[in-house]
Amino acid sequence: MKSTGIVRKIDELGRVVIPKELRATMNFATKDYMEIYTEEDKIILKKYNPGCFICGSVKDIVEYKGKTICRDCLEEIQKSVWLVDKWIYDKMQWVNLLHFLFFLR
Ligand SMILES: [Zn+2]
Repeated sequence: MKSTGIVRKIDELGRVVIPKELRATMNFATKDYMEIYTEEDKIILKKYNPGCFICGSVKDIVEYKGKTICRDCLEEIQKSVWLVDKWIYDKMQWVNLLHFLFFLR
């Protein structure tokens, strides 16, 4: 653990301001969620990294309409959509063939 030499006072509501330079260094932005850990007599703050809303993985995350999803789950969904499309297309081919045969009679 590295000391920053910074000392801050806790206010009446229990808040401590993280100095701007430290927030910039740690890539903490306004409204970011922070995860709070404890270790013996220490409090550790870590930028909260929400995982995939399907499998919980935090690896290879992308955001879509405010939800986080990993690339593996996204690819699986895209594959499923493609299979449903193909299934519908195949069924339509049968329907077209039946119409064709019906009108030939
Ligand atoms: Zn996932």
